[in-house]
Amino acid sequence: MPAELRVSGSAPTVAADSPQPLALARWCASHGWPVHPLVPGRKTPAASCSSCRQPGHDHRTCLCRTEGRWCHGFHAATLDMNRIQQWWGQHPQMGVAVACGPANLVVIDLDTHPTTPPDRNRLLPGISIADDIDVSAMTTGFHTMAVLAALRGQPNPADDDTTLRVRTPSGGLHIWYRATDGRRWQSSAGSGKNRALAWQVDIRAEGGYIVAPGTRTDAGVYTPVGTPRIPAPLPAWLAHELQRTHHLPASHVPAPRPVPGRARQAVAAARHGGDPVVAVLGTVLAEVADCASTPEGAGFSEKLNRAAYTVGGLVAAGHLDEHDGRTALLEAARHARPGQEHRAEAIIRSGMTAGARRPLTPGSRP
Ligand SMILES: [Zn+2]
Ligand SMILES: [Zn+2]
Repeated sequence: MPAELRVSGSAPTVAADSPQPLALARWCASHGWPVHPLVPGRKTPAASCSSCRQPGHDHRTCLCRTEGRWCHGFHAATLDMNRIQQWWGQHPQMGVAVACGPANLVVIDLDTHPTTPPDRNRLLPGISIADDIDVSAMTTGFHTMAVLAALRGQPNPADDDTTLRVRTPSGGLHIWYRATDGRRWQSSAGSGKNRALAWQVDIRAEGGYIVAPGTRTDAGVYTPVGTPRIPAPLPAWLAHELQRTHHLPASHVPAPRPVPGRARQAVAAARHGGDPVVAVLGTVLAEVADCASTPEGAGFSEKLNRAAYTVGGLVAAGHLDEHDGRTALLEAARHARPGQEHRAEAIIRSGMTAGARRPLTPGSRP
């Protein structure tokens, strides 16, 4: 990690020597957290190119990412050290952000925005607060989070000294956790109508990004608190609360180890003349998943790379949703080589990028 991030102690006084963005970006990527640049001095993503700012432009079909540009914020996030060197080497003033979804991160963002408190039934969505309780002091995310933890008889995440916590320039706190079971937690804002954990508490997960610890903006430095610099696993009770407040997509509640079954089904479909896309997908996923029976020397990287290449081609041809493909690959890789997710993610990313250049329609010859 950059030397500046090794500074311990609770006082946020490392402002004078926040790490260089290039070193910080490399440090994040080395943990498997894809990074993308921020406008110098700001917490907003670096601007997209002019064609990407045209009305009606669709980031899902955009080629800027494959061509090395940072358009579309967290969609451009990368683990590629060459690209990181290129971006921050040439633009050392840009800040660093992490795309939470592909990083498997769930960050609890406690805000202290000076806003009017809402109706009492929106302080903790889904939890009714009795009329005789004075809620006038529940004005910040620190308050609502503390009350939620207390109601559940759990320790307050704001005080969790086992995980990475980052004080923000505006006095908020980012509490970083790691999703451990492959579930795709969704982002939310504390003011959201359908999905919100608590008033003034945002969730940064799938579809969101978080400013990297140590980043300096015009407002100040995002300063780690205490000693941990690595996120702890998401506490089970918080996962339960996030599920209760609709932070999982409806189709994904929950998905325990679906790959071997899905792969086997697909292989069976292939043998019985089923959907050719499913069959191709199933064959390559099964090759990856089958590496589980051989801890070493099974050609795992090569098989994963080939599977990712195939998935990239299927996605490019419109046969498969990119996220579903990536998730299936990750699940197969996790099944075969538990604990090597970072390495697997890098292989998947580069394989899919390469495969995307060769759209693949099973059954037809290019
Ligand atoms: Zn662009
Ligand atoms: Zn674009």
